[in-house]
Amino acid sequence: MDGPFGMLAAGGFFALVALPVLLGLSALLRGLWAAWAPSSLGLIEEGGGAPRLAGWLGTIVLGTAALGWIMFQGTWLLSRWTAFKPMPMAFAEPMLAIAGALAIILVSRPLARGLAAVWRAFDRRWRAPGRRSLITPGKLVLATLAILLAAAWSLWHFALKNRLGPLDLSALDVPAIALLALLFAHVTWRAWPQARRIAGPVSGAVAGVLVASAVLAWRTQPSLTLTIWGDRPLAGLAIDALFDLDAIRENVSLAEFQPVPVPGALHPDIILVTIDTVRADHTPAYFGTADMPVLKELAARGTVFEWAFSPSNVTRRSIPSMIIGLAPDRVKGRVVGWALRVDPRHVLVAERLRAGGYETAGFMCCGGFYGDEMHTGLARGLEHLEIEPNGLALARRARAWLEERAKHPHDKPLFLWMHVLEPHNWAVASGDPVNEEARRKTYDRTLSLSDSMLTELLAPFANVQPERAPIVIVSSDHGEGLGDHGQVFHSTDLYNSQTHVPLVIAGPGIKAQRIAETVSLTDLAASLLDLAGFAPAPAHTFDGASFADLATGKRAQNADGGSAYAAMIHDRSNPGGVTAVILGHHKLIDTPKGLELYENRSDFTERSNLISAHPPIYDQLRAKLVEHQQAAKRSPFP
Ligand SMILES: [Zn+2]
Repeated sequence: MDGPFGMLAAGGFFALVALPVLLGLSALLRGLWAAWAPSSLGLIEEGGGAPRLAGWLGTIVLGTAALGWIMFQGTWLLSRWTAFKPMPMAFAEPMLAIAGALAIILVSRPLARGLAAVWRAFDRRWRAPGRRSLITPGKLVLATLAILLAAAWSLWHFALKNRLGPLDLSALDVPAIALLALLFAHVTWRAWPQARRIAGPVSGAVAGVLVASAVLAWRTQPSLTLTIWGDRPLAGLAIDALFDLDAIRENVSLAEFQPVPVPGALHPDIILVTIDTVRADHTPAYFGTADMPVLKELAARGTVFEWAFSPSNVTRRSIPSMIIGLAPDRVKGRVVGWALRVDPRHVLVAERLRAGGYETAGFMCCGGFYGDEMHTGLARGLEHLEIEPNGLALARRARAWLEERAKHPHDKPLFLWMHVLEPHNWAVASGDPVNEEARRKTYDRTLSLSDSMLTELLAPFANVQPERAPIVIVSSDHGEGLGDHGQVFHSTDLYNSQTHVPLVIAGPGIKAQRIAETVSLTDLAASLLDLAGFAPAPAHTFDGASFADLATGKRAQNADGGSAYAAMIHDRSNPGGVTAVILGHHKLIDTPKGLELYENRSDFTERSNLISAHPPIYDQLRAKLVEHQQAAKRSPFP
């Protein structure tokens, strides 16, 4: 990464948190040693053996295991009896822990004595005459460590691994090195008295340089600090704990993102509505069953992209890809709650539009995604932000804000983004209906409800002259299984049910037409800048290219062409490991079980895998897929 200074600063940020922790731990261990004075406990008997120590260590190991078992089983039973109600759980859990601990303390002394007697007998039986005891304190400590490691490993391997899925443990490398260094220092301290004189000053100086680098980076190099946050999980943790990442990000000037206006271009108002979890084929724009009069009207007078694909099948991967303009596996960040906290080096389209002179506003469903609490950065660039979980209430607030805004003169064009969640929660009220038909109806009702939000949102523009009307874009972040391919919800596969989403654009300059060319919602960021009258961003800014020129008719469509890419990324609720590329009519999906190839137009539900037929397009799709998979390994940052 960023040269020697970057390494020093990263080490410094880590040290800022690690040093107090390690020093505290050392003090604790030394205190424990001093308080208990193990050598004076009379644990060592004739012959250097310590069967009583062995007995107590065995008791501690067994007691810990027993307490773990009691807590695990107890929590499980409590959760069944109380249906996970927080209050009774919070009351009963400590009671359970105390009762379990008391029971273990009750049996611990007899148990320790019994074990000690067993060890003593074992020692007498097997020790050669005149030799030292077999169970010296040193051997005992080593044996205990080995048993604990083996127990931890088996617990992980047999009990936890399958439930938690693969964990990325690379973040533990640095603490492991720090602990080893500490151990080394302790051993050297004891074994090599001369080292004591230089060890203090040397380690003090190293810590000083590291910490000074970190503070210097924080004060003078915000971009480097952001890079360290992005690339170093633990140093990043320290940055979050001690500094305000959002404040550091604000030191990066908007001017850096300023898009270049096309001479003479108009800068129309733009309304972007993303409705969570919308399958295109259920909406009237795609001849579906849901009653959505507003969307239907927009589709009739605007452009319908018949083959638009979401970048992923879960909000936290799709939305960032859409508003950053990079493929989902090239968007960096960390999962917080259900959202993605995007790497602060990424620039969002709202920031670009704002830097280009737009007034920006966001009306968003969810605090966990767009609010301050999670520091996701997804609302960056939105000057005016309102959060309201109820979609209809949110749309009414947007309406009120727009009406208020219309009363005052304003010279800036508007970019307004509204994200509503109702279809995502279609099953919440009704549970998952067992019947396929009921399921689809329940889902469709949430689409109709979302359409009524569009009515509210667009009402303030009812009487504006057509050429002054906003460009309205309606789309979604992913679809929903609804039983297709055995999946009721989303986040599980990349078939059309979860990735084929609506994309409807209407407004001044937008043609009334249907576009058969394949497009990706990763193209959204570039398209928004295009619609807003800005020149294409420099190469490598976006992975996507604008589809706005198709909507305006500046470019003729290639009905059999176009491309899209989607990826599932492993994290808290997504198994990951699946990628898909679409070229024109064909879609190639790479799953852990193998490759699947489908013809979208004749086989929309993806039933007949053409992979063994190996049609001529296969090699092209495969090459494109590999290209995307390779690109995902390269850093998206310059
Ligand atoms: Zn979603």
